[in-house]
Amino acid sequence: MTPTTLMTSIPTLEDLGDVDGRQVLVRTDFNVPLTTGDDGSVSIVDDFRIRAAMATVEWLTERGAQVVCASHLGRPKGRVDERYSMAPVASRLAELAPGVELLDNLRFDAREETNDPTFVTELVEGIDLYVNDAFGASHRAHASIVGPPTVLPSAMGRLLQREVEVLSSMRDSPKRPFVAVLGGAKVSDKLGVVEALLGAVDSLVIGGAMCFTFLAAKGHRIGDSLFEPDMVDTCRRLLESGAAIHLPDDIVGLDANGNFATYGARLPDGAKGFDIGPGSAAAFSDVIMDARMVFWNGPMGMFEDDRFAAGTRTVAEAMADTKAFTVVGGGDSAAALASFGLEDRIDHVSTGGGASLELLEFGDLPGLAALRGAPNA
Ligand code: ADP
Ligand code: MG
Repeated sequence: MTPTTLMTSIPTLEDLGDVDGRQVLVRTDFNVPLTTGDDGSVSIVDDFRIRAAMATVEWLTERGAQVVCASHLGRPKGRVDERYSMAPVASRLAELAPGVELLDNLRFDAREETNDPTFVTELVEGIDLYVNDAFGASHRAHASIVGPPTVLPSAMGRLLQREVEVLSSMRDSPKRPFVAVLGGAKVSDKLGVVEALLGAVDSLVIGGAMCFTFLAAKGHRIGDSLFEPDMVDTCRRLLESGAAIHLPDDIVGLDANGNFATYGARLPDGAKGFDIGPGSAAAFSDVIMDARMVFWNGPMGMFEDDRFAAGTRTVAEAMADTKAFTVVGGGDSAAALASFGLEDRIDHVSTGGGASLELLEFGDLPGLAALRGAPNA
């Protein structure tokens, strides 16, 4: 599918007609990182996803629409769980967009994830128009994503539009060398996209906990580092496919006694790897500096701990410095960039980790397909 057909068939805000006085349900992605203080109070670590929805919310309110936002937050398993209350988001939203309503956490109701038609009916009650601006949830066929466009005139919001434009052009007309940098915790989450990207990119750089499954597939000892035994064969097959896959050749972590330690690409028994080492970080930076397009998803290490943030920081700095067109996807990756103060030096920081990976992998998302089927499309 070319980017033009993917984009042109999806209605935009302009296709909603006159919004003055209309009730508009905006599916936002307010799934922000939260932290619990010593006193038990919950606060937002990074409000990036709330601010990212403002272009759409303001476009609507400036034209007289009454906006009702709806989002999920965390994984409350289909019942009310106060740990995932929308209250912290609601207070930030009230500062940014006074007068805008916010529904309770969509995932407090099990019918959201099962895409139950009775839940869709409740969501659209009293609503005239639907806007999907939740890029980060558009890879899920959940009620709030795919339901409303079956009954209401609908549109993609500005954020969703920009995300789809950038990621589909990256997929369909890459500038070369095109490099993908992948990290984060689990290979199994990302294996599909690793395989899809191998066909598209000139080289793949792998850090994060993911790298240990690949290192194990090369026959290296990885100590007690996180790894997924049932993914080893697949990783071996990818490594043997002849694709250009860069793995770390030094690792930073904790030894069996819990002391900070630096290793080569082999870890002794009891050692745990938590970050790529300085040599690998420099080598990965070189690959990024020489690229013309870079997609990065997943931190290079457990960056939340300062001792293991250096690899992620070095890669983030290369992303900021390179002349390449740079896209970063993933909640934790975006949070890492923000913590280094580098987010403004990235061409596009995606609000969706899984969604950006799936759009790169498949070239479409359930949420986009639903909008294409809306009555006004
Ligand atoms: P994103 O949200 O950007 O898609 P992921 O959710 O896939 O990223 O992964 C982020 C998590 O991976 C972070 O919490 C980070 O601490 C963890 N992580 C990265 N490298 C390691 C490692 N070597 N050991 C343990 N955890 C790791
Ligand atoms: Mg994450």
